[in-house]
Amino acid sequence: MTKRLLDAIKERPLLADGAMGTQLMIAGLEQGSCGEVWNLTHPERVLAIQRRYVEAGSDCLLTNTFGGSRIMLNRHSHADDVVAVNTAGVEIARQAFAGRDGFVIGDVGPFGGLMEPYGEFTEAQVLNAFREQANALVDAGADAIIIETQTSLEELGLGLSAAREAGAPCVIGSMAYDVTLDGATFRTMMGIDPERAAEFMQEHGANMVALNCGTGMDMERARQAVIRYRQVTALPIMAQPNAGQPTLVEMKVVYDETPDQMVAGVVPLLDAGARIIGGCCGSTPDHIRAFRQAMDQFRMAKSL
Ligand SMILES: [Zn+2]
Repeated sequence: MTKRLLDAIKERPLLADGAMGTQLMIAGLEQGSCGEVWNLTHPERVLAIQRRYVEAGSDCLLTNTFGGSRIMLNRHSHADDVVAVNTAGVEIARQAFAGRDGFVIGDVGPFGGLMEPYGEFTEAQVLNAFREQANALVDAGADAIIIETQTSLEELGLGLSAAREAGAPCVIGSMAYDVTLDGATFRTMMGIDPERAAEFMQEHGANMVALNCGTGMDMERARQAVIRYRQVTALPIMAQPNAGQPTLVEMKVVYDETPDQMVAGVVPLLDAGARIIGGCCGSTPDHIRAFRQAMDQFRMAKSL
């Protein structure tokens, strides 16, 4: 990798990848088992998924390390594998680019619990878990770290400082918003508005502000979030919406937006100012391939 991610997005918008979790299930991961440990036990399957995203046109891959913190891995009795899981996650993603230019974004998801006084984890435990994971990702050569699917500023702040202290070349904070019941607006489960989140991320040293996942956050809602971010920060923006809404079909969770439906939102999202676009839950290599075409047409139209 020659060019740094933050320099690259000044020149042109970049395409990230789609969902990992749903792809792991298709590849045989059982519900409730640990997908991150597949970096060690089934690296060829993780690699095959990421290769499909690269072939579809992804410029950036998120490592298969969403649940790769000690607290998360401990639930599957794999706490001793933190460094190995995260190191392998970076190596597999790098390998998926097969020598092509591409950015490996180290993925850090929520620790999956509550902190004191509401839950059993101390702030120090959570910070240490994020530090350990962030250090492993940076040491393995990640081009950035994304602290994603965040709903509380407390946890987000710990993740951002861990990524910063680890020396990540780019630190991305990403919030999961839910559309309110009346449909009027969206905020995180913990009640955080996009404006507050973006200000907080900027104050806490993020290099990029992002949103991903959430409930009811389709491409249009993602566009609205980008616009609201832009009103309070000049930091670059990344968006990874879900492929619509989850629905139960024959006891399986299926996301209801096809590539054709979702791709209609790509140019509006770019026009709103998003510099990295990808997909979260339910998005597939087919979605990413459609995004690639739309982004290439956008670039030609703007002579980027
Ligand atoms: Zn998601």
